[in-house]
Parts: sequence; C-alpha cells; structure tokens
Amino acid sequence: MARRKIIAGNWKMNMTPSEAVKLCAELKELVKNDDVDVVYCVPAIDIVPVVEAVKGTNVEVGAENMYFEEKGAYTGEISAAMLKDAGVKYVIIGHSERRDYFKEEDALLNKKVKKAFEAGLTPILCCGESLEQREMGVTMDWIRLQIKSDLVDVTADQVKELVIAYEPIWAIGTGKTATTEQAQEVCKGIRDCIAEMYDDATAAAVRIQYGGSVNAGNAAELFAQPDIDGGLVGGASLKADFGKIVNY
Ligand code: PEP
Repeated sequence: MARRKIIAGNWKMNMTPSEAVKLCAELKELVKNDDVDVVYCVPAIDIVPVVEAVKGTNVEVGAENMYFEEKGAYTGEISAAMLKDAGVKYVIIGHSERRDYFKEEDALLNKKVKKAFEAGLTPILCCGESLEQREMGVTMDWIRLQIKSDLVDVTADQVKELVIAYEPIWAIGTGKTATTEQAQEVCKGIRDCIAEMYDDATAAAVRIQYGGSVNAGNAAELFAQPDIDGGLVGGASLKADFGKIVNY
C-alpha cells in the first residue's frame, strides 16, 4: 500500500496566539489538499486557538515538544495527556534544536516517544547529522544510533504509525538544502534500519520526511523520491509558500 505523504510545518518559537489565528486564516484555502496529511506543529500556547482555527479544515495540529511523565511537579512542562485533550494529533520529538540547546538525549527521547504513543499521539521523531559528521563520513552510523536508541521497546505496530523526520542539522534554517540524492540516500538508510530492527512490513509502512530548507522550489523533487514521504518545514511554513509545498 502506498504511503500517504505528510507535510508538517514547524513554527518553532514564532507566532503569538493572535498571529497564529491570523496565519491559519491566511493559509486555509492555500493548504487544501485531500491527498496528503497537513500538520501545523505550533508553540504550546498556540495549540488551543489553532485547534479551534483549523476546525472543519484538512489541517491537523501538532505540538513541538512534550514531557514523558504523566503529571505532577514538573514546572513548565506539558504532558502527552494535556496535548491529547487539547486536540493535538502529532508531536515533534527530538528536534535538533531541542537536542542541541536543551541537551535532550536519546534515553529521554525514547521515554517521550513511548509516552506519546501511550497517550494516542503520533510522534514525529527527528534525527540528523551535523556537517562535521557528514564530512567525516559517519552520517548513517550516527542516524542509525539515534533511531535505534530512540525506539528501544517501541513495538512494530507503533513504528508503523510513526513519522520519522530526517533533518540534516546543516540544512536547517540555512537555506542549504540537502541534494535530492543525499536526502533519498539517508531516508532509504533509515528505512533499511527499521527493516533490520523490525521487519519489511514495518519498514514499508513507516513514513519518513525530509526537513531542512524545504521551499516551494525544491519540494516536488524531494517528495518524488521513493523513500521520502513528505517534509518537515520550518521557515517556509509561516508564509503562503507553505500552500505551494503542500500542493507540490
Ligand atoms: C525545521 O525546523 O524542522 C526545519 C526544517 O527548518 P527550515 O525548513 O527552516 O530549515
């Protein structure tokens, strides 16, 4: 069965709640497409108004992060149950900015992935190499380590629902996109890794996005690759261009 493409915007720390509602209205007609899944991953404070703003449209809402504990004394954190109750469907886990600036490590991310599934959320699990790692020729070793560590004790049935975002760190927010060949090669490598860890059916089902300076000009070629099932889009998700990416 063909995998359904998934195109998700990562708004990062942009958009106040009122700006968020305005952006949803501006993008509403532009992102219409019943053939792909469209997701806005938004800052926590925007979740409630954005869920309301996209009601009745083809857009689903995602969070940019969550904590793995059920509830309690974790000041400043947001639980999976809170996200689920607010109408969130997806949650980004392990974005390179969280790994880098907030020192989130794979053991923590593994707990988050498991908790997200337990709560009925779909994780968008990010992985990707630095420029230094690419130049040293260890890209796939690094990514395999991330995937294997982040998916400890995650079942095949869960992985079939999972979204993995391959995001080379050197391509995020830099305007420097990976070549189509580089992106396809790593996305295939991730699928092969899933086949080794689970089985061919699981590898065939998991959706793998490319992220890193995706724009209206390069989306079509990237998304046409056999192992690229859509994109995680940062900068270009905040403007009308996102509609062109969704309708690549
Ligand atoms: C991202 O933040 O996940 C991302 C890919 O950003 P950009 O599209 O701006 O490179």
